[in-house]
Amino acid sequence: MARLGSWIEPFPEGVYVRPADAWVDPSRPKPKALITHGHADHARGGHGEVWATPETLAIMTTRYGEQPGRPAAYGESIGLGDVEVSFIPAGHVLGSAQILLEYRGERVIVSGDYKRRPDPTCPPFVVTPCDIFISEATFGLPVFRHPDTGSEIDRLLHRLRAEPGRCVLVGAYALGKAQRVIMELRGRGYDEPIYIHGALERLCLLYEELGVPLGELRLATGVAKAELADKIILCPPGALNDRWSRRLPDPITAMASGWMRIRQRARQRNVELPLVISDHADWDELTQTIREVAPKEVWITHGREDALMHWCQLHQIKARELNLVGYEDEDD
Ligand SMILES: [Zn+2]
Ligand SMILES: [Zn+2]
Repeated sequence: MARLGSWIEPFPEGVYVRPADAWVDPSRPKPKALITHGHADHARGGHGEVWATPETLAIMTTRYGEQPGRPAAYGESIGLGDVEVSFIPAGHVLGSAQILLEYRGERVIVSGDYKRRPDPTCPPFVVTPCDIFISEATFGLPVFRHPDTGSEIDRLLHRLRAEPGRCVLVGAYALGKAQRVIMELRGRGYDEPIYIHGALERLCLLYEELGVPLGELRLATGVAKAELADKIILCPPGALNDRWSRRLPDPITAMASGWMRIRQRARQRNVELPLVISDHADWDELTQTIREVAPKEVWITHGREDALMHWCQLHQIKARELNLVGYEDEDD
């Protein structure tokens, strides 16, 4: 009998599914691509056919223009060659999916990026049994334990109220993190207008169109300094320290990212108020997920593979490291 999963071939540029002649999240243009979610390191432009959830296709269209899209709703099953393909919620960002591949009685899941804690902007991760679970490991070290999201949001609100006259400027990735921070604020009862950098506008509008209500948003550009006092402003991380932020009223600089666990990362970006809010599984979520999915083998992709490999070995789960390239943290 052939080795388990011998029909799945990892290449540096992505995972190739031979009997479907298709690639998962390829980093280079391919004739047929299956895309887990819209972050730029997973979803690139220029493919011949793009199989993804309707939300992911809408995100890709917003970012790259019209796509040769083949929409697949969660739970729908598609035949590609002799492979049955289905998309299962991954709880990472709007439209994000684990991709289940079934071929000759074997079930392989490519997780894409995922998390297990609740996110008001997308449906939660669904545990699905399989033989091989190909997992990300962005925060695959025991030091990474993300705190409760609500308490991070409370720290933000507390700081805003404690320093009248100032504003809080939150650096957040344009896809997923920004909208989640907004929804978490709304969930904590914050119903003031939230100001956004122009670079966040298109994706916020798209989230609203796709049924995620973000409340009143205003563009921060061109607004008088006095109006922005005591307000929350969101911008992409790159704008935190650039010219754009200099005309804000004495901003308290914050950043929402799993990396804010690391003091040095916060210092590098001159972040005064680090908020540990991540769209990736932390160490406990990674190991909990592997336990629950209970695959015969775990293949580990981008991130810190070593510790998770070791954990799998300790728990008698066969593990293998895939050396994919080109996955950066656009989306932590
Ligand atoms: Zn990723
Ligand atoms: Zn991602």
